[in-house]
Amino acid sequence: MTGPLDQTTAAGAAPLVGVLALQGDFADHQAALGATGLRSRQVKAPADLRGVDALVLPGGESTTMLKLLEVEGLWGPLGAALHSGVPVLATCAGMILLARHVENPVQRSYAMLPLTVVRNGYGRQCRSGTFALAVESAELPAAMSGTFIRAPRVTGVHGPCEVLARRDGDPVLVRQGQLLAAGFHPELVAGHPVSRLFADMVRAYVRRREASAFVGR
Ligand code: GLN
Repeated sequence: MTGPLDQTTAAGAAPLVGVLALQGDFADHQAALGATGLRSRQVKAPADLRGVDALVLPGGESTTMLKLLEVEGLWGPLGAALHSGVPVLATCAGMILLARHVENPVQRSYAMLPLTVVRNGYGRQCRSGTFALAVESAELPAAMSGTFIRAPRVTGVHGPCEVLARRDGDPVLVRQGQLLAAGFHPELVAGHPVSRLFADMVRAYVRRREASAFVGR
């Protein structure tokens, strides 16, 4: 049985993660994925989505990504892949692409996470930096920090969505089902716990898929 993305990862091969690579820090994500033992592939065109077990939406400039998604004919195919149920890690601009409401200014998004985000909500580049987070999940170490670069600020959570970590009371790491979104950049820090958490989600997803394919045989 094949999944919605025709996953074909051979038994024993490391899961393959598609990393949106139109703009932004996709190379840092590929390095972070590699460090957790996962394979990755740059996604620049619809055909690149075929066979991926998970997806990453990197940091960068969400407005530029929106334009390039249209230009490359990827808006629809990427949306279908995001809705296919595979694990997704979205960081910073990636989180903006998934939020239901985007402000400063209002812009289009996939609206899959019940969040309102304000772009550059922590101020300009000079206010960027690494900050200690308040961790609310037992799956993560209590002492964890996040690097914020012209980051979106989550100002509203409108539906069921786990908040895994906060900064100054505002959610900065959320999860809904297989969607994991951070306002900061775990991919910039070697061995960041969020990179490990995502790798665990991907491996668990592939194991479940293989188990149900075996039952269905
Ligand atoms: N400020 C960027 C945006 O609005 C996000 C910044 C980032 O991804 N580091 O898209």
